[in-house]
Amino acid sequence: MSVECEKVGGINLSQGVCDVPAPEPVLLGAAEALKTGKNSYTRHDGVTELRRAIARKLSDFNGIQADPESEIVVASGSTGAFYCACLALLEPGDEVIIFEPYYGYHVQTLLAVGAVPRYVRMQPPDWEFKEADIEAAVTPRTRGILINTPANPCGKVFSEAELKYLASLAQRHDFWLFTDEIYEYITYDGLRHLSPAAIPGAAERTITISGLSKTFSITGWRIGYLACEQRAAEMIGYMSDLVYVCPPAPLQYGTARGIMELGSDYYDELREDLRAKRDAICTALDEGGMAPYKPAGAYYVLADISRLPGDSSKEKAMWLLEKSGVACVPGEAFFHEATDGKNLARFCYAKPNEALHEACSRLAGLKKILR
Ligand code: PLP
Repeated sequence: MSVECEKVGGINLSQGVCDVPAPEPVLLGAAEALKTGKNSYTRHDGVTELRRAIARKLSDFNGIQADPESEIVVASGSTGAFYCACLALLEPGDEVIIFEPYYGYHVQTLLAVGAVPRYVRMQPPDWEFKEADIEAAVTPRTRGILINTPANPCGKVFSEAELKYLASLAQRHDFWLFTDEIYEYITYDGLRHLSPAAIPGAAERTITISGLSKTFSITGWRIGYLACEQRAAEMIGYMSDLVYVCPPAPLQYGTARGIMELGSDYYDELREDLRAKRDAICTALDEGGMAPYKPAGAYYVLADISRLPGDSSKEKAMWLLEKSGVACVPGEAFFHEATDGKNLARFCYAKPNEALHEACSRLAGLKKILR
């Protein structure tokens, strides 16, 4: 959709790229590292400054205690962290439970290592899942479950009760909890992000994955990390070394500086800015005849596009691009059965105000055509 959008000079609300400026301390930290010659390979699991900064942040924000010397691996984005965790901990044929609608990279990464995704549906509007569906998905080959909270694409923020249930299930059947918490700072309406590893008894079987791409608007820097018990961290670090050697050295220093220097006001502003953007796009989608499922977190909204012409969500998304010049992601990208997601589209609203407001006015304007 990004390619199609570029062809028509449209407004791209498809890819999860935040086009807002990165915070000053992050940029200065990286610039200084470049100038002072921090351009070599780093320790495979990241520079000490960054591992320590992450350990402090994990303790303060997530309630997770991790030793920066042995239980944290800085990786090439959270994408690289998850891939290396799968390489290290899964065998071909191992099954991993995954919630649907899902983030495509999660499924493709599992498939790339020969693992088998087992899908469990979440139901709108609140994206709840049934415990019976999860229990039915557990087999003797289950080696893990993937929890993405706040979730892409639906914006679900998992509750404490849900996480406790999933942690106890993992304990009962002895499998890993892989988490993707990349949107951890982006929750709305007073909801708080909860890390699965902070659930009592869950830390030893949880691979907590996150990164700074979204929080600092540095998706191209490729700085992510994971935290887990020492033995798993050692094996995952080994894989990260083999595949990536290390994440970019100067960018690790910039990221460390950002974590250490930015205070709660930065994160509050980020949340508030995205909350206003969420409300603006939800209002516009509603007006335009595409009812939104208001997200509780992250920066995407799924909307019901059943009224748009077309036989598939792709055709509907192309129609939308042609008529309004706004690009979205067709819903079928988030389901394993091609016909599912047929009436859904995902819009990313982490865009500068001017572009987002123009997109909103175009989306709202569709009501004239769709009536
Ligand atoms: N995880 C989720 C759920 C995402 O939506 C994205 C990007 O859109 C990523 C991970 C990628 O993160 P990173 O840049 O740290 O690899």
